[in-house]
Amino acid sequence: MDKEIRRKSIATILADGSELVGKKVDVKGWVRTRRGNKNVQFVALNDGSTINNLQIVFDLSRFSEEELKPITTGSSIHVQGTLVASQGKGQSVEVQAEELEIYGTAPSDYPLQKKGHTLEFLREKAHLRPRTNTFGAVLRIRHALAYAIHKFFNDKGFYYFNSPLITASDAEGAGAQFQVTTLPLNELPLTEDGKVDYTDDFFGKMACLTVSGQLEGELGATALGLIYTFGPTFRAENSNTPRHLSEFWMVEPEMAFYEIEDNMELAEEFIKYCINYALEHCKDDIQFLNDHFDKGLIDRLNFVVSNDFVRLPYTEGVKILEESGKKFEFPVFWGADLASEHERYLVEEHFKKPVILTDYPKEIKAFYMKLNDDGKTVRAMDVLFPKIGEIIGGSQREENYEKLLGRMNELGLEGMDWYLDTRKYGTVPHSGFGLGFERLVLFVTGMQNIRDVIPFPRYPKNCEY
Ligand code: ATP
Ligand code: MN
Repeated sequence: MDKEIRRKSIATILADGSELVGKKVDVKGWVRTRRGNKNVQFVALNDGSTINNLQIVFDLSRFSEEELKPITTGSSIHVQGTLVASQGKGQSVEVQAEELEIYGTAPSDYPLQKKGHTLEFLREKAHLRPRTNTFGAVLRIRHALAYAIHKFFNDKGFYYFNSPLITASDAEGAGAQFQVTTLPLNELPLTEDGKVDYTDDFFGKMACLTVSGQLEGELGATALGLIYTFGPTFRAENSNTPRHLSEFWMVEPEMAFYEIEDNMELAEEFIKYCINYALEHCKDDIQFLNDHFDKGLIDRLNFVVSNDFVRLPYTEGVKILEESGKKFEFPVFWGADLASEHERYLVEEHFKKPVILTDYPKEIKAFYMKLNDDGKTVRAMDVLFPKIGEIIGGSQREENYEKLLGRMNELGLEGMDWYLDTRKYGTVPHSGFGLGFERLVLFVTGMQNIRDVIPFPRYPKNCEY
């Protein structure tokens, strides 16, 4: 091997192809396939930098069959050679191999031998599935979306604010929590009245993994003005649906001086920005997913970014559902928490557009949402998407100390003086929302199951790796 030739990624070589023709290149990657005849062998090489493979041509006057034998699907190799214009169809350039180094062979029990494994099969091989075209595409899109999120907020003057993952505040009520403890579970220390005694626990009190960073985010927003959190959240609900994970990533912007209308405007702009970013920067990956899984994907993404979202009060939404004449599995009536089937009816059948549903009955929403003048509804806003249902949940927050305290007392919430202090000292109108990151990835990739858009999904009875 010639140490002077610097390695290039396959993405770079394919992008700069015409300039590099005639030059020596150095590539490393995993073999997707090898085929050919007695004179020439073709290897499709992938290094993860792009969904596209680089074709490596081995001339059998230069390499022996014996040398090439270990190059099977899944093996890893290092090649130097000359980049040439390709005669074959399917690629514009290819590498005429001159030097070969084999890093690792892949015996015939390599599970990803053939194309077209089912997603269920691949879920059982989650430690290897990032090497498939499908998961490579999904994971690159996931990365691009994460970057777009940081870029969007940074460019708008938001600060990235880190809320804690371990928390002793269980009042959010967004979902069941996982406990964090170092107490010996076989012999739990008990108090006199038979409850668990947390005095000797690591934190000296009951602690849990967070279900949302919002409450702490509000502390950030009422100091820095505009903040967003972007981190893991954990929910111990037994939700075995294609849209729920036990560990997922959430993006939660929180904005001082924003009212509900500003909040809706931001949510719509934000989500369109992210989708546009992916359309622009992940063309090959999205095209692949469109061709192989979901023929309507690109049209759907373009449709969402080029249309205004419908804004509709909950009360009107319920009326539409009641008058639809549709047989739903769950009943609809004013006061009902809408199920995914209802949300999707509004979006996919009635409006055929994303919908921002607002002003929900206070009983079905969290305690911190601002009460409307009608005394019955709160300034909530859920963004509902085709195929996904709820992708964003948000609201204007109750900034009035007395009203917030009253609502917390009604619900028996205690030990939250730190939260109430935001309203006690220099309170301001403010708003925010939470976007489930995997739901966004689900939408942009067109995948059907949220377990297929995160590298290592956690869900009830599953915690591999
Ligand atoms: P849902 O009604 O779909 O269970 P939620 O109302 O419990 O969601 P919120 O508490 O409003 O959700 O959380 C904000 C966002 O987080 C949701 O809009 C959704 O995108 C996402 N989300 C909530 N729960 C999950 C989950 N278990 N897995 C993945 N994403 C989730
Ligand atoms: Mn919600």
